[in-house]
Amino acid sequence: MENSNKRSWAEPYKIKVVEPLKMTTREERNKALEEAGFNTFLLKSDDVYIDLLTDSGTNAMSDNQWAGMMLGDEAYAGSKNFYHLEDAVKKYYGYKYLVPTHQGRGAEHIISQILIKPGTYVPGNMYFTTTRLHQELAGGKFVDVIIDDAHNPASLHPFKGNVDLEKLDALVKKVGAKSIPYITIGVTVNMAGGQPVAMANLKDVRAYCLKQGIRVVLDATRAVENAYFIKTREKGYENKSIEEILLEMCSYSDACTMSGKKDCLTNIGGFLALNEWDVFEEARNMVVVYEGLHTYGGLAGRDMEAMARGIAEAVQWDHIRARIGQVEYVGDKLKSLSVPIVLPIGGHAVFLDAKTFLPHLKQTEFPAQTLAAELYLESGIRSMERGIVSAGRNSETGDHFYPKLELVRLTFPRRVYTQAHCDVTVEAVNEVFNRRNSIKGLKMVYEPKYLRFFQARFERL
Ligand SMILES: *Cc1c(COP(=O)(O)O)cnc(C)c1O
Repeated sequence: MENSNKRSWAEPYKIKVVEPLKMTTREERNKALEEAGFNTFLLKSDDVYIDLLTDSGTNAMSDNQWAGMMLGDEAYAGSKNFYHLEDAVKKYYGYKYLVPTHQGRGAEHIISQILIKPGTYVPGNMYFTTTRLHQELAGGKFVDVIIDDAHNPASLHPFKGNVDLEKLDALVKKVGAKSIPYITIGVTVNMAGGQPVAMANLKDVRAYCLKQGIRVVLDATRAVENAYFIKTREKGYENKSIEEILLEMCSYSDACTMSGKKDCLTNIGGFLALNEWDVFEEARNMVVVYEGLHTYGGLAGRDMEAMARGIAEAVQWDHIRARIGQVEYVGDKLKSLSVPIVLPIGGHAVFLDAKTFLPHLKQTEFPAQTLAAELYLESGIRSMERGIVSAGRNSETGDHFYPKLELVRLTFPRRVYTQAHCDVTVEAVNEVFNRRNSIKGLKMVYEPKYLRFFQARFERL
């Protein structure tokens, strides 16, 4: 197994079913883009050639997972697939109790409502959109405690997702540990570019929080990818398996929220996993109100089975190595063409640095939104804005948040595209890069109240 390290990561599967891709003309794409208000979320999937919008729920399932779908036990209560899922979560993530949810935000909603009281503070290593919103809706205030390197696209820190313990301590000193129900640690940090957290940092945060009586909740959505980076970058872990590393990571927390649509290799699903009986009891009560009975949480039996099997496949070395190998392949090629990207290359996506790519655009002209639109126009490749539009507005002042980073995310679905698709992607980005000086910005003409990036509309300036 470890010997194969020296060779190329070639896709560790062969293709059994194919889904044809549709090519479009530039005129067709221009029309589609205008109809979508220059928001790639509003494009019809049918008008997209290579879809790098997200790695969420876009995974290709294995034949083993599809076989499991046929073994769905669709009983309302006590489905056998729930128990399979519970076994898999215990075995690979190590938590005692499981509450299935329809996807990650269902778990975030429940844990936020249970633990956060109005007026409290929830620190985190950079925000994630749905996570922060659920914390705010529960009356909490999110406080970013990620290290400064995370905000610097040029920093080569190997663990840019790390928590800055001084920032955390400053918050504790300011508001008091009693006003902090928990800290959320994202592993990896999506909004920082899929950047990992070091095991040493998880350990330190855990020790600090134990002393202060603050819970640690992992956002374990991409914890397997984080484990890969610990194995390949952190001293002392090179000979540990992904399974061992994942278990150790989770051992430094009290609970996790999970979007099964990412690392668990499914198209839908999620869970909340916990170690505290009291919190579990409340969560199990609440899931019935918002998601479904505690043995299905909004999922069909077959979906729980697919997730249980996906959890076991995700920790296989050949899988995770090729998954991240593909992302690094694209990132390395773009880097060699001098296209500005966030470094080090993250786990699930390559992030174009739109501020450097389009330096002539002001942040209020939405450089990342503009770049995502131009890439679609050029090639039919769909990407996503992660900048001022995603950051939303400050609920107190009403002004935009002005994030330091304006990024365009090229996100790779797991096991879906080939190396040739990767090459085409690199060519398309480079073509936009070559005509970057003539690109004009956008203005926002419609803005929804919540998570505006999903539905906002724009026009060309
Ligand atoms: C996707 C995601 C979530 C939310 O999960 P959903 O399944 O989309 O509800 C939470 N945190 C992170 C880091 C994510 O990437």
